[in-house]
Amino acid sequence: MNIESIEKKLLKQNIETKKKLNFSLEVFPPKDDPDGEKLCNLIEELKKLKQYEPKLVSITYGAGGLGSREKTLECAKKIKEELNFNCMPHFTCINSTNDFVLNYISEIQKLGFNNILALRGDIIKDEKRQNNIKSDFIFASDLIKFIKENSSINISAAGYPEGHNEAKSLEDDIKILKLKSDLGASSIYTQLFFDNEKFYIYFEKAKKLNINIPIIPGILPITSFNQTYKMTQMCHASIPKKLFQKLEKYQNEKQAIFEIGYEHACSQIKELINFGVNNVHFYTLNKAKITDNILKECL
Ligand code: FAD
Repeated sequence: MNIESIEKKLLKQNIETKKKLNFSLEVFPPKDDPDGEKLCNLIEELKKLKQYEPKLVSITYGAGGLGSREKTLECAKKIKEELNFNCMPHFTCINSTNDFVLNYISEIQKLGFNNILALRGDIIKDEKRQNNIKSDFIFASDLIKFIKENSSINISAAGYPEGHNEAKSLEDDIKILKLKSDLGASSIYTQLFFDNEKFYIYFEKAKKLNINIPIIPGILPITSFNQTYKMTQMCHASIPKKLFQKLEKYQNEKQAIFEIGYEHACSQIKELINFGVNNVHFYTLNKAKITDNILKECL
């Protein structure tokens, strides 16, 4: 093969790669936003990413405390009105009743969407409060089963490349992933991770268990050392030693952290594409700039 045809082949591969990568954006409904200003800011941020045609925007549910629950659909409505993006509202079933779930799904569908991310949610540590709230569900799998039996909405679920913190082992957790898939989840969105090896192992173990639905890697573009550290503690994700040392060293230099975060996310995504991934999920933390730069480089 001569140089010209190799170049042509690479260009063709590149074009094919460009066509292949889909992505979604995760946002959270702004808290303490009585006049809706923060929600308008979020719309402005998302507008900056419209040119890249996100496959969907997923919107967290109650992740900032119970008070933010009713904000999820409000946020989805605004995104639809202003940007006409497809949305996937999240839902956590802990402390929820069957009727509440059916009503929530009907609200999603009235807004013109047909997706839900079905989650259990974190267990409230205040046991007294926990016991006082009626719940028809224990695990996300109960929710997935119920939704599948009672609605035609497209169900996605959460997965954990490093294992969920309550699971005895990664193997046990992947068995739960299999259950979620068998009960009706049609795709899995993963927890954020910074070491692709963890994802590859997870993916291979899932394949061995005949989990054949898409497993979509969650990418957090790092823009702050403290925030990333706190998040990884909360969601039990690890930061590789070399990356941690770099972040720690430059923690007070905003631009340096941004560049480290950008470089790391770009190389994660490029390697994931080489692995065969054609869809990634960005944890945007409601800011567009770094995701914008990454998409410019990786799409
Ligand atoms: P489950 O799948 O129910 O798993 C919880 C634990 O129970 C795991 O250890 C699992 O192995 C075990 N388990 C599950 N089913 C069974 C079973 N049948 N028998 C025995 N053990 C079982 N939280 C929010 O509050 N709001 C959000 O919007 C939100 N969005 C998220 C988005 C993504 C992509 C991810 C990855 C997480 C999100 N979370 C959110 C966090 C999530 O709610 C927590 O991680 C929660 O602790 C577990 O939820 P789950 O749906 O994975 O639970």
